[in-house]
Amino acid sequence: MRVNLLIAVFSFTLLTGCKTQVTTINKEKSKTETIAIPIKEYSILAVLWQQHAAEYRALTYQAFNTAKLQLDDILANKTKIEKPLAIVTDIDETVLNNSPYNGKLIERNEDYSETSWIAWGKEKKAKAVPGSLHFFQYAQDKNVEVFYLSNRLSVQTSETLENLKQLGFPFADENHILLRTDEGGKETRRKKIQRSHDIVMLIGDNLSDFSEVFDGQPTKVRNRKADSLKTYFGNKYIVLPNAMYGDWETKGILEGKYYWTNFQKDSIRHSKVINY
Ligand SMILES: [Mg+2]
Repeated sequence: MRVNLLIAVFSFTLLTGCKTQVTTINKEKSKTETIAIPIKEYSILAVLWQQHAAEYRALTYQAFNTAKLQLDDILANKTKIEKPLAIVTDIDETVLNNSPYNGKLIERNEDYSETSWIAWGKEKKAKAVPGSLHFFQYAQDKNVEVFYLSNRLSVQTSETLENLKQLGFPFADENHILLRTDEGGKETRRKKIQRSHDIVMLIGDNLSDFSEVFDGQPTKVRNRKADSLKTYFGNKYIVLPNAMYGDWETKGILEGKYYWTNFQKDSIRHSKVINY
């Protein structure tokens, strides 16, 4: 058991180089001392969980098994088809597993950056999220089109399509991918798909993959909206687990304040832990 009690929230601290320094109280020695914590230290357990926990895989299988049951049900009950049917899916942590990128940030002691993210995408090494490939191939067999709606940058289009194609994902072509151009919100792009297709299902790891009501919202609102839409989950909305990153952290825990220093972020994380 750790002897040192971290009192990072209000202690004297400095951000030096790539480490967040925090002052701790060593109870045994009755003195304070300063230690340096690597800036991605807080993310290690989440990355390990996604890479190693059989429970993570079980959850992704559960999501895609549910998606298949729902799709079968939708197809069995569609009496009139006016527009081609479509599934809209996110890409990262929904069909492609980017946990090695998050692992690399830990090794390099770096924060996310567009440069390193684009470099990882160019490697085209992301593997399929368990269960995803089988499900999307099944959808194709049932004549349901798949649209990849992602906030990867539009400059990443060719390597993203190649990565998807190498893995065998259907509809990995220019007509079925909508990456980010300017706005991060996905509603405009969803509406664009809706004009030509009947969207029967949405799949993602971030609640903004489903509805704009979650866009940019703080934790309380996100939770309240999730409660109000509870009948949609496992139904029209299929959710994948992602403990490594997401709006739950940036918009929720960190309240969208990207300019905060790593030490401030560390303090905020500590302050938001619920205990008794
Ligand atoms: Mg995602």
